[in-house]
Amino acid sequence: MDVEALLEWYEEVRRPLPWRETRDPYALLVSEVMLQQTQALRVVPYYERWLDEFPTARALAEAPVREVLALWSGLGYNRRALALQRAAAHVAEHGWPSDLTELPGVGKYTAAAVSSFAWDRDMAAADTNVRRVLTRREGLEIDVSARADELLPRGRAAPFNQAMMELGATVCRPRNPDCAQCPVERGCLRLVITPARRVKPTKFEDTDRWARGRVIASLLAGEPFPLDGERLERVLVGLERDGLIVRDAAGRPQLP
Ligand code: SF4
Repeated sequence: MDVEALLEWYEEVRRPLPWRETRDPYALLVSEVMLQQTQALRVVPYYERWLDEFPTARALAEAPVREVLALWSGLGYNRRALALQRAAAHVAEHGWPSDLTELPGVGKYTAAAVSSFAWDRDMAAADTNVRRVLTRREGLEIDVSARADELLPRGRAAPFNQAMMELGATVCRPRNPDCAQCPVERGCLRLVITPARRVKPTKFEDTDRWARGRVIASLLAGEPFPLDGERLERVLVGLERDGLIVRDAAGRPQLP
C-alpha cells in the first residue's frame, strides 16, 4: 500500500475536528471515548462542552456523578462516562500509566490512538474503519493489527492513524466505497464486504439501551420514569450493578 500517497491525501482533505488540534492526552482520551459509538460531527459540541466544564483529569475526577451524566446525556452508553471519570481519577492520582490499557474503559485501540496522537508513540490504532479498509484491500485472512503495524511509518504514527481512519470514514465507507477517490486504490482487491442486515430491526424504544438512557434522563430532570413493571426493575438492577444509580433506604433509585 502506498502510505506516502495516503498521507498526502490526508493533508489535503482532513476535516478540522477539534481533537485533531491538541496533544493533550486527557482531551484526546475524552474524544476517543466519545467517538466509540458516535459519529465525529455529532461528538464535536459534546466534546467542547465537556472540556469547558471539565478541562483537566482532576476537574473530571472531582465532579459529582450527576454533573458528569448530565453533560454526557445524549451520547448514550452512560457507562462510558463513568469509566472515563474513573480513568481521570486514576490519572489525577497516579499520573498517566505507560500502558494506557491499565485505565478503566480503555482498550487496545483507544490506548494506541491516544498514545500516538499525544506522544507520537509508534502504535497503529486499528478501529472498525481501519479494519474494513485493510480487509477489503488485502483479504479476509490477514491479521489486521499486525498489518497496520507493518505499514505504520515510524515517527509518523499520528498522521498515519488519522489518515487511515479518515479513509475508512469518508471514502472506503461501509456501503458504497468511493474507489474513484481513493488514494490507495492501486493494488486493492476491492473485496465486497456488505455489513450484515438485521432480519427484523428492533425499534430503539424497545431496547434496554433506550430504557437505561430514559431512566437516567428522568432522574436528572426529576421526572417520573417512562416505563414501569418488570422492565423498569430489570433496567434498574442493571444500572445499579454498573454504578449508575444507587437506592436510598426506602429502595428508591437515585443518582450516586
Ligand atoms: Fe476501499 Fe475502494 Fe480504496 Fe479499496 S480502492 S481501499 S475498496 S475505497
